[in-house]
Amino acid sequence: MPAGEATGGETWYDVLGAAPEMGTDELRKHYHARALQLHPDKNPGDAAAAAAFQRVQSAWSVLGDAAARAAYDAAQAVAAGNRISEEVDLDDLHFEPAAAGAGGAVGEGEEAAAEAEDRYTWPCRCGENFTVTTSMLEEGCDVFGCDGCSLCIRVMYELASASDGEGQT
Ligand SMILES: [Zn+2]
Repeated sequence: MPAGEATGGETWYDVLGAAPEMGTDELRKHYHARALQLHPDKNPGDAAAAAAFQRVQSAWSVLGDAAARAAYDAAQAVAAGNRISEEVDLDDLHFEPAAAGAGGAVGEGEEAAAEAEDRYTWPCRCGENFTVTTSMLEEGCDVFGCDGCSLCIRVMYELASASDGEGQT
């Protein structure tokens, strides 16, 4: 389970010395800097550095993965007391097949997801969307943050049901 808890109230962003609003590129820079600084080769016999190095690896295993990061962000938002504004059935979300999503507009500064995948969107009252990707669902995530504000929705779905037969192309 990579999406574990960071210790003592510090977030995985804290572990990397990064901020939640940073894009993947910037997070990667922070990760590399921390990993280099704490690398066991540079800190022989330093148990604290070794433990910190492990935490940095854990942090990056979550934040370096778009789906895991989204799941983590949503969990953080809920933990921070953000209300779930709606509960929506997955079937009610707007389904966007991977092909359409890949050619679509990409937000400024945001890396296009490496591999195109099917996604679902749900409009937020702020004008932005909640975005749910299949890999996020596979992470077991059911709470999703808005792309533009701090609201969250809970998506109701059953992992067990196979998706074949849904949505014809
Ligand atoms: Zn919003």
